[in-house]
Amino acid sequence: MEKIEFFRHNIDEEDISRVSDVLRSIFLTNAGVTKSFEEKFEKYLSVEHVIAVNSCTAALHLSLLALDIGEGDEVITTPMSFIATSNAVLHAGATPVFVDVEPVYGNIDPSQVEAAITPKTKAILPVHLYGNMVDMRALRTIADRHALYLIEDAAHCIEGERDGVRVGELGDTACFSFYATKNITSGEGGAISCHTEEMAEKLKRLRLHGMSKDAASRHGGSYKHWDMVDLGWKYNTTDIQSALLIGQLEKIEDRHARRYQIARRYAEAFDNAGIEYIGAAEGMKSACHLFTVLVEERDRVITEMNANGIGVAVNYNPIHLTSYYRDRYGYKEGGFPVAESIGRRTISLPLFPLMRDDEVEYVIKALIGALNR
Ligand SMILES: *Cc1c(COP(=O)(O)O)cnc(C)c1O
Repeated sequence: MEKIEFFRHNIDEEDISRVSDVLRSIFLTNAGVTKSFEEKFEKYLSVEHVIAVNSCTAALHLSLLALDIGEGDEVITTPMSFIATSNAVLHAGATPVFVDVEPVYGNIDPSQVEAAITPKTKAILPVHLYGNMVDMRALRTIADRHALYLIEDAAHCIEGERDGVRVGELGDTACFSFYATKNITSGEGGAISCHTEEMAEKLKRLRLHGMSKDAASRHGGSYKHWDMVDLGWKYNTTDIQSALLIGQLEKIEDRHARRYQIARRYAEAFDNAGIEYIGAAEGMKSACHLFTVLVEERDRVITEMNANGIGVAVNYNPIHLTSYYRDRYGYKEGGFPVAESIGRRTISLPLFPLMRDDEVEYVIKALIGALNR
């Protein structure tokens, strides 16, 4: 068996030719392709507005800024995520307040959220971890009862749906990532979905310096003066990246079906072998972004998997145990025991649509072998 990387992208000739068209055009940034991607993504999500940006981190940051969350405010979120989630809260000048996760999917535990609400709380920021959606109805009810905003970190969950609720449907905004290993990718990239025209306009201004006109319209036709009305950031994406995403979005459901098939096979094999895992949830449409097994002696198992030519990842060592968060906020081991228990044991296995059946079997065999040693 050759090496099985943790992830291989699905960029095909059609995507490459769409990018070539942009490269042969005059403006390499915003001349319509990004707008076209945004419209297609709005349709796919059935959401009113999508604003493309250069990362999910930027999407989270801008969501907070657009909702006027900053200095002195608290945002309730999960320690079981990539550091980007709570870092965005820090970027906005606010304070992340962690709530432990439930043990089944590793998502923020809605039953513990209300106890963390203080007069300073402005928003709840859940993550749909590994592609399995948080109970958004429960969180929306809590948010409404306390007049809080709800921002979804949907970096793992473009395709998700739960209890008839689509990702992005109940959140004031939802934030998506097109980073290199995500379900659709432009290397780097992100997007924000929202429901009102006012919010969309604010987000568009904030992604480009707070300017009243974007770069493309600055160059179209007769000269127009622009103004700066907010202090914004430089978070816009380019047509080169958007051109890569359009075709992947068209094919996302077919590729999701293959991800689901692989996740089912892993689940079946690990049920038989008695290996604990967090795979695609039953009874909801999981985006099947990551398939994570929970094992003792995790680091030894990773070394053995690597020695067998298999790429794996750790998603995640909990955020509150990183040096920065420990030093600055005094977080310690034991603060969020469920997140820590997942964090100590988690290994994400290769899961991508181009993965062949024999590769899936090889990974299963290697894992069982490593655990039996
Ligand atoms: C990848 C990821 C992000 C950050 O996305 P970028 O596009 O790299 O900024 C945020 N949250 C989660 C859960 C992620 O996995």
